[in-house]
Amino acid sequence: MKFASRLVSFDPAPGDRFRPISTPIYQTATFEQEHTDAFGEFDYSRSGNPTRTVLEKHLATLEDGTRGFCFSSGMAAIATVTKLLRSGDEILADNDLYGGTCRLFSKVIDRDGIRVRYADAQAPELFEQQITARTRMVYVESPTNPLLRVIDLRRMAALAHAHGALLCVDNSAMSPYLQNPLDLGADIVLHSATKFLCGHHDVTAGVIVVKDEALADQIYFVQNAEGSALGPFDCFLLLRGTKTLKLRQDCQQRNAVAVARFLVSHPAIQHVYYPGLSESRDYELQRSQARGPGSVLSFTTGSVEVSKAIAENAEFFHIMVSFGSVNSSICLPGKMSHTSVPSKVLAERNLPADLLRLSVGIEDEADLIADLDRAIHLAGAR
Ligand code: PLP
Repeated sequence: MKFASRLVSFDPAPGDRFRPISTPIYQTATFEQEHTDAFGEFDYSRSGNPTRTVLEKHLATLEDGTRGFCFSSGMAAIATVTKLLRSGDEILADNDLYGGTCRLFSKVIDRDGIRVRYADAQAPELFEQQITARTRMVYVESPTNPLLRVIDLRRMAALAHAHGALLCVDNSAMSPYLQNPLDLGADIVLHSATKFLCGHHDVTAGVIVVKDEALADQIYFVQNAEGSALGPFDCFLLLRGTKTLKLRQDCQQRNAVAVARFLVSHPAIQHVYYPGLSESRDYELQRSQARGPGSVLSFTTGSVEVSKAIAENAEFFHIMVSFGSVNSSICLPGKMSHTSVPSKVLAERNLPADLLRLSVGIEDEADLIADLDRAIHLAGAR
């Protein structure tokens, strides 16, 4: 079955005698048992809920995995993955990660004795030199947020495995429609499902998908023990969002390519970061491992004040953190989504202070370009 068909062709309500076409919301915390000593298929919603099970199976299929897990946020999913490690273990992470992930890595999991070191995964030889006997996990996003750097995922899988480490890929910027890290050799793929999977900015959710049963059992154990699973109503909304994933992303990506071309040709714009531009140094690598460049891009103007004014004058592009929604958005990562990155890591990353990140939505392409053109003009950029 092709991806577009898989998005809507699944059993929405296994065993339900009324055969609904939309998955029912099993808004219940607990399930009655027939006997004191025998559990049914479900007994308590923290441990399992029918709405969540449909969603988790669906997402596992979309990511070409065997088991999926849904969490109350992307961060809860990432925190769960770190629970696979023990005190003394290390994570080697790419140095261009979402700010919240850096905060978790530098201020929370260090309390469990887990150390995180950062290196540039775009330089795989140097990256590999940073792996030590304690490295249990390599952690990357691709394309990265907000610099849209593409990481060679096959290469990362090979080098992680050569040193007995797991590769974990945050696939939020692509979604399973555009990229399947498990097929490229990753052991764990995770998402902030708040982004493209949901697509409407009305749910905060996280997803983990794996192929390996033993890993799946460990993740399930943590999800149940910590009680971080997604609630039934949010599962319903997320499941509903996934059905239009391809439609939304096709449109968003078409618009993003047009917006990127417009920005490249605008004299006031200094640099456009987007792996969908044939002149981007990551263009070929992106094509070799993903089915499109996505709809998140960033650019610089040479002045923080001008960038700020562009964001404030744009109308279709709403100033907000997050990305992947049907509405277009604009943000200044240095002042918004990435303020939680430790200053040392920020300095190593060379994140330009004037960098603006766009998430392109499903509005009309001409409206989006006219909006940016007007905002750039009003910002006084030349
Ligand atoms: N991963 C990436 C790439 C993100 O951009 C974000 C949030 O913006 C997260 C993870 C965290 O996800 P959530 O906000 O759903 O907890």
